[in-house]
Amino acid sequence: MNNTEPEHIFALNIQVAEVNIKIRNNLWQVGGNGLTDPSDAAVYIVRFGDSAALIDAGSGRGQEQLIKNIAECLEPHVKLEYLLLTHCHFDHTGGANAVRDEYGCRIVMHELDAVYIESGDNRVTGASWYGARIKPFTIDIKLQGRETILDIGSGNVKAIFSPGHSPGSVVYTTEVDGELIIFGQDVHGPIHSELLSDEKQYLDSLTELLNLDGDVLLEGHFGVIEPKKEVRGFIEYWRSPIGVSHYAILYAPDDWDPRRGKAATSVQPTDMND
Ligand SMILES: [Zn+2]
Ligand SMILES: [Zn+2]
Repeated sequence: MNNTEPEHIFALNIQVAEVNIKIRNNLWQVGGNGLTDPSDAAVYIVRFGDSAALIDAGSGRGQEQLIKNIAECLEPHVKLEYLLLTHCHFDHTGGANAVRDEYGCRIVMHELDAVYIESGDNRVTGASWYGARIKPFTIDIKLQGRETILDIGSGNVKAIFSPGHSPGSVVYTTEVDGELIIFGQDVHGPIHSELLSDEKQYLDSLTELLNLDGDVLLEGHFGVIEPKKEVRGFIEYWRSPIGVSHYAILYAPDDWDPRRGKAATSVQPTDMND
């Protein structure tokens, strides 16, 4: 007999799609593939008292859903003060200007990437990879040098220059309830000449990222990585020879396996035993 009544618990386990992912108190993922539009890199939000900052904006194609998701996290009196952009790529920045229009926030980015946004460079921003054209917009606060502290409400975020994937990539860090949170975004690369990537800089930046010893790594396409041991493993993977060959030939988040088994086999020559 194959018509057994399903157990009630199965019905209880059916969940509606989440509109955001709570990572910690006052820290959420509000955008990205599965939450907004498939072309969106991950979008995170962190709140400090009556102020908040959004980290990256997605491509803009999921704008309406992004705004709904943000409203689920922030009470109306909380002001979104900053949009912190990690780098110039379209999947992180295409929606930035619309976010500023909506919330009146200030857009922050390193000056070495700002130039490609302000000039509307479809190649270096990767917009052409998405069949899009980037509409130039101004960056309100252009970061310079190695480190900048931004005060936001009752807390702060540190911007750390982390070039390689793009010329002006930035990693943002903050503390939430005693844990070091790293908004690392495209830690996995890729390294590509069209994006003006620099492999040496990228590998040096990964070493610095490792030395931060973060508790939680929030990545642009791999989502939330924790605890500390997994954060180290993830960064070490992309810094290792196997990660280097992986980013050269693959750009598929699905190929990441925490135990590295799948990723390891994906770079083996398939015709070895022929
Ligand atoms: Zn990306
Ligand atoms: Zn990128």
